Amino acid sequence: MSLSTSYRTHTCGELRAADAGAEAALAGWVHRRRDQGGLIFLDLRDRHGITQVVIDEASAPEAHTAAEELRTEFVVQVRGRVERRPAGTENLKLPTGEIELRGRAVRLLAEARTPPFYINEPDAVIEEALRLRYRYLDLRREEMQRRLAMRAALVTAIRAFHDASGFVEVETPILIKSTPEGARDFIVPSRFQPGSVYALPQSPQQLKQLLMVAGTDRYYQIARCFRDEDLRGDRQPEFTQLDLEMSFVAEDDVMAFVEAMVIDVSRKVAPERPIALIPFPRFTYEVALERFGSDKPDLRFGLELVDLGSAVAGAGYRVFDSTLAAGGRVMGIVVPGGAGISRSQLEEYETAARRFGAKGLIWIAIEPDGRGRVRSTIFKAVGEERTEAIAVAAGAGPGDLVLVVADANITCQEILGKLRVEAGRGLGLADPDLLSYCWVHRFPMYHWDGENGRWDATHNPFSAPVPADEPLLATLSGDPTQPSPEDPAGRARAQQYDITLNGWELGGGSVRIHRRELLERSFALMGHSYEGMRERFGGILEAFEYGAPPHGGIALGIDRWAALFARVENIREVMAFPKTQSGSDLMLGAPSPAEPHQLEELGLRSVPPEG
Ligand code: ASP
Repeated sequence: MSLSTSYRTHTCGELRAADAGAEAALAGWVHRRRDQGGLIFLDLRDRHGITQVVIDEASAPEAHTAAEELRTEFVVQVRGRVERRPAGTENLKLPTGEIELRGRAVRLLAEARTPPFYINEPDAVIEEALRLRYRYLDLRREEMQRRLAMRAALVTAIRAFHDASGFVEVETPILIKSTPEGARDFIVPSRFQPGSVYALPQSPQQLKQLLMVAGTDRYYQIARCFRDEDLRGDRQPEFTQLDLEMSFVAEDDVMAFVEAMVIDVSRKVAPERPIALIPFPRFTYEVALERFGSDKPDLRFGLELVDLGSAVAGAGYRVFDSTLAAGGRVMGIVVPGGAGISRSQLEEYETAARRFGAKGLIWIAIEPDGRGRVRSTIFKAVGEERTEAIAVAAGAGPGDLVLVVADANITCQEILGKLRVEAGRGLGLADPDLLSYCWVHRFPMYHWDGENGRWDATHNPFSAPVPADEPLLATLSGDPTQPSPEDPAGRARAQQYDITLNGWELGGGSVRIHRRELLERSFALMGHSYEGMRERFGGILEAFEYGAPPHGGIALGIDRWAALFARVENIREVMAFPKTQSGSDLMLGAPSPAEPHQLEELGLRSVPPEG
């Protein structure tokens, strides 16, 4: 499709050698300007590329005078003739590098102040606050334009796949009643009903389930979600999910659909990046923790956790004995070739382990040249032979290093899981090109919330138990509103599945409870009184009395997915207008103080913070 307009015949990325001899008009920003006396060179830039313009004082004196006034980032239109560049001056790095536009007429469309940072230096290091304050300039940079385009391609591919699979895209409202996803709600006061508030959706969870009750069968949405929580690298107060829900499905149906969609979308958006394993590996939550110490394992490298309980039992090392006696675990990972690492690198592992919550880190190094030469923190206490036997039990050979942690079960697994990632990535074992997807499923339904004396959903409060575990949704007392930490409910597994990519949680979903009675029982375990749940979830509970189909769904973080495709760590890099770590929009200045009349209309008063 031609992108020509009344200002331009071509974009700045379009002209080629075959256009030589043609008349053309280009419009864009002055990327660079070089004044060589009689000749002025302009690199003219728009989103599509850069074209070199030459203005010769001898043949185009007026244009030359106009070009003398131009500065970087001025917006101009240039008319002239396309010519092949003189032999030897072609620029092979530019798609337009074989030609130049011999400018005859230069028209200034807008002047520009000197930008606060380089737009024409791809490697310039720019202060983050400046990038966010002047986001419209930051976005002019080629890299950022590429990311925006990639993100758009991602959403286009998602839509195409869903459309072809019988899904209906439905928009759900932004002003809703609170839908809990475990974060704090953003609230919007109502002017018509002073003292009442809307919540911004943490996700369209209840609405998509109601669409299933409505018979929509297959719903999806590129949905904006809002969660008022502390921000980290992969979090923003508002973010975008691919949200979907399907009727008459079991766990496998949803996972199979999502897997096919993810493969198709990945191949379209990043055709050059291999997908590590198809079908995607599936682990239960328990196995994922046991093997990788994480519910979002990075499978681009091995370094699996090894249980060392029997290898260390009776070795005479106090920490091991007391941990095992207390029902804890002693586990390790093998860092291949790690015996040769420096003292300071070892100390880095130790510091990392403590940062991850370990009381200490035990290591065993087997010297590369064979048997009998072991170094270790436990060498003195345990003796050479036994120390080596422990390392061998971990799967280590000559030249390897074993990192060992002793702690309560999940703590031990999680600390080693994080060390595993630190070691794997540090050793360069994580192939940056690979797209390594995996499923983790069958999470525990609940975890015990000791403070409030109730069970809490580990994921989604609407998730259904694994069918065989349905009878476990019960308390010892027999009354679901009187839960205790010993309840069978603590053993129930949910039909909950997370999809991960290269060690990031990309999305999560579940098959839902679709019967009112069971949902009420589950809510009661989670500490809701029957009146309380009617007040908070009355809409969906009532809907379930009108015939709800079995249904399930998932949501995938589009920002995270785009960040992983763009190979960036922070989702800000793939959002056009993100907020800072403290939730501010530095460009437009939000949040900003409310006007007194706004507060008055809403019946609100602002109380200055104490202190
Ligand atoms: N609503 C869930 C979330 O936002 C996803 C789902 O269960 O479909 O994480």
